Amino acid sequence: MTASSAPDTTAAAGQISYKDTLNLLQTPFSMRANAKQREPEIQAFWAEQRLYERLSQQNPGESFTLHDGPPYANGALHVGHALNKILKDIINKTALLQGKRARFVPGWDCHGLPIELKVLQGLSSAERGELTPLSLRQKAHAYALEQVEGQKAGFRRWGIWADWDQPYLTLQKSYEAAQIGVFGAMVLAGHIYRGLKPVHWSPSSRTALAEAELEYPDGHTSPSVYAAFPVVELPEALASALAGAGLPPERATAEGGLAVAIWTTTPWTLPANLAVSVNGRLDYAICAVAARGEAPAPAVSHLVVAAELRESLETSLGLTLTPLLSVKGTALEGSLYRHPLLERTSPVVLGGDYITTEAGTGLVHTAPGHGVDDFNTGRKYNLPVLCPVDEAGTLTAEAGPFAGTNVLKDANPAVLAALEATGLLLRQERYEHRYPYDWRTKKPTIFRATEQWFASVEGFRQAALEAIAAVEWLPASGRNRIEAMVSERGDWCISRQRTWGVPIPVFYHRETGEVLLNQVTLSHIQALIAEHGGDVWWQRDEAGLLPEAYAAEASQWRKGTDTMDVWFDSGSSWAGVLGGIAGSESRAPELHYPADLYLEGSDQHRGWFQSSLLTSVAVNGQAPYRRVLTHGFTLDEKGRKMSKSLGNVVDPAVLVEGGKNEKQDPAYGADVLRLWVSSVDYSADVPLGPGIVKQLADVYRKVRNTARYLLGNLHDFVPERDAVAVAELPLLDRWMLQRTAALIDAVSGDFERFEFYRFFQALQNFCVVDLSNVYLDIAKDRLYVSGADDFRRRSCQTVLSLVVERLAGLIAPVLCHMAEDIWQNLPYAVPERSVFERGWPTAPASWRQPELEPPMERIAALRALVNRQLENCRSGGQLGASLEAQVQLELGEGDAARATADALDWLAATAHPQVDNLADWLLVSALQQGGPVLEPVLAEASEAGITVRIAKAQGEKCERCWHYATDIGQHAAHPSLCGRCVQVLT
Ligand SMILES: [Zn+2]
Repeated sequence: MTASSAPDTTAAAGQISYKDTLNLLQTPFSMRANAKQREPEIQAFWAEQRLYERLSQQNPGESFTLHDGPPYANGALHVGHALNKILKDIINKTALLQGKRARFVPGWDCHGLPIELKVLQGLSSAERGELTPLSLRQKAHAYALEQVEGQKAGFRRWGIWADWDQPYLTLQKSYEAAQIGVFGAMVLAGHIYRGLKPVHWSPSSRTALAEAELEYPDGHTSPSVYAAFPVVELPEALASALAGAGLPPERATAEGGLAVAIWTTTPWTLPANLAVSVNGRLDYAICAVAARGEAPAPAVSHLVVAAELRESLETSLGLTLTPLLSVKGTALEGSLYRHPLLERTSPVVLGGDYITTEAGTGLVHTAPGHGVDDFNTGRKYNLPVLCPVDEAGTLTAEAGPFAGTNVLKDANPAVLAALEATGLLLRQERYEHRYPYDWRTKKPTIFRATEQWFASVEGFRQAALEAIAAVEWLPASGRNRIEAMVSERGDWCISRQRTWGVPIPVFYHRETGEVLLNQVTLSHIQALIAEHGGDVWWQRDEAGLLPEAYAAEASQWRKGTDTMDVWFDSGSSWAGVLGGIAGSESRAPELHYPADLYLEGSDQHRGWFQSSLLTSVAVNGQAPYRRVLTHGFTLDEKGRKMSKSLGNVVDPAVLVEGGKNEKQDPAYGADVLRLWVSSVDYSADVPLGPGIVKQLADVYRKVRNTARYLLGNLHDFVPERDAVAVAELPLLDRWMLQRTAALIDAVSGDFERFEFYRFFQALQNFCVVDLSNVYLDIAKDRLYVSGADDFRRRSCQTVLSLVVERLAGLIAPVLCHMAEDIWQNLPYAVPERSVFERGWPTAPASWRQPELEPPMERIAALRALVNRQLENCRSGGQLGASLEAQVQLELGEGDAARATADALDWLAATAHPQVDNLADWLLVSALQQGGPVLEPVLAEASEAGITVRIAKAQGEKCERCWHYATDIGQHAAHPSLCGRCVQVLT
């Protein structure tokens, strides 16, 4: 750093300590951040000044709404949280500095299974047994609040500004009521319906299960069954192709003719079979079948199997499969087959890429009531959702002869026996695979279609796509992602068989099952929830929940037990927080709907961006946001996911506050974490690890030391008294202001485009190159050696004060603590108590003099050439400090030399030769242009017509300024000083 090479580091040797006559650095702004102590002090100052509250509510500009996507209220904060919340804070602080009313209401997603499970896991089995839905809800409520407080403390420590005392929580009464309002509006608009959908079902506990409640124990085996389903009708094209291959259609579709081969590990689902699915892109072989060895011949003459599996199936089925014809899966679509066990025919349909050749036959037995892929394929073909299995896993009358058997007991053997009797069973064996079990009963689960509530996306898909087109997506690829997802998605299943959530406020008729859900019941329940919270649904019986109009018939109705998908919770925040629905108010007058910006990870095109869009479009016909910005995910330095097992997790709490061993894990402070966020191109995934943290800490120190140097040289500067008008400043100073103006322009644009990594690069470049390497390097002599009140020092201080105030403003959105620390350590009075009250930095027109840049670039190139020669001399031991040297310069022919000559003429024409002086700029004691060659030359170099020679400077070293001068010894009182220093002292 500049300061360390200044002459103040060595005491003067003479009787008088000339060191004391220099203008040395004075500032309480410390070199070390001491962030662990200092950052909380600064945050306390902000709180005491009510800075965020005042600026966000009283700023003169327009309101700005960045609406917070709620993190899930569970677990410790990780660096993903840091990336997300700090990006938001950088944007909000910039808006506040720009005079906007940027109110930020932080949120938490508080309902849902993970919290419910956490609570359950914390209970003994006896306690679990006594649990009622209401007591579970109370425990989950308390748990969520505790988690919110923990995460909140972390966010605050990072310097995030927000309404921390009034966050939005999806468990709040007002929020829940607004959510019921969204649901109600969708019901009344006809977007909500009840239908069947397969879910994980545990026959042993007679309940639906979520993914998190499943276990996959080792060693599960299922009966693996290959079966032939006889084809009874062929599409015309396929029929004629087959005829051409020697199999006339009437033979193919006759008894004992052609069949499709399927494979299943759940024979009990065969009574629910409604289709066979193929992959349209796979090749299928139609083969003649012959028995091999002693195996009995099957009851069909030809089989359809995936071409790729033909050979392996020959082995596993013990058959010879001679290919007759190969067709794409699409050619099979529209064939009809006869159910092997029941009196019905069903179609061959096109499934999706879930149909592979990894196992089975490449043709998939499809039972829409018993599988998710099956269900989705069934929807495309309007197949019914047949589910002939009751809550206990017992097959119903719809299963025909198998009624009364149980899926966990005798259903499989019964189906297998029946299949064997038909001759259509090709093979059976035990098969070991991953299979989901109920985590409580340790018994196998099944897929079973149950009644669920859906939002019919079909009803407003077109409006949703139009709303997407009206939003600005950053990066633009986000639009394609969400557009594809919304155009392809099925209806949204919004009901969950859980306790910890917002109730679906519906009543069912005890006898007929009829649904009661209308304007009157909806607004009554909404009012109850607004007053008492969602618990009221469990606290009261039907008589206490039904509106007046239904009081008399309360005994006929049964309240529903489903809760809403948590994505419906968070997807209603535009209503619950921004007041985007009639009858609800926004949380603060500064918040508006639609929001200016949503900003989350790029996975939220599938999640919150989409659920918010769907609800908002369904209710209001528009998106809840104007712009959507996305960020990537955090990886380690090698591009791997962070995980405990890899040991590559960066804990933001340790990064900020230090680890147990502070030598190994020092407390870098929140600003270094924030600087990391600003440094990454977050449009892709971003890396973080110890090496990166060290580099960031270096950059942080550079900025800090630069600021300290500026502040330290201003201790006796009073702007009103000492400042020099911009027009009267030397060239070097005006160039520095021009560079500062260019920085302000660049950084303003970077923040406008949310390209903070460009700010990060520009800031480093400004501090290291423009300030430290050039301006401050040259300024040392002006600042230290001049008389305190000399023009050459005051003019420099003028620049330092103008620069440091703007530097503080420019870094304030990112390095907010350091910026405030700088402001609090300005050694002169300013009207604003905080850097954030100053507003976003601007540069007056008088600073903008781009014509100063080309000659300065020439001279910088010359400095670099000279410095390289000086360095050669130093490393050869011929020179110490550069002030021991004099330089001879010769400019020959060529563009570079001519341009350098022009630059030197420009410099020579200055009105301030005591500052704009090439020898001073080169940090040498003397400079000679042309003339006789210096003797002895210590180093010489020629580049592009420019020759530089280095020689020892003449005269002796001045004890005070360390320049070599020939006028030393001429003053009796100061025999060891140069004339210039003598003048300063007298
Ligand atoms: Zn001197």
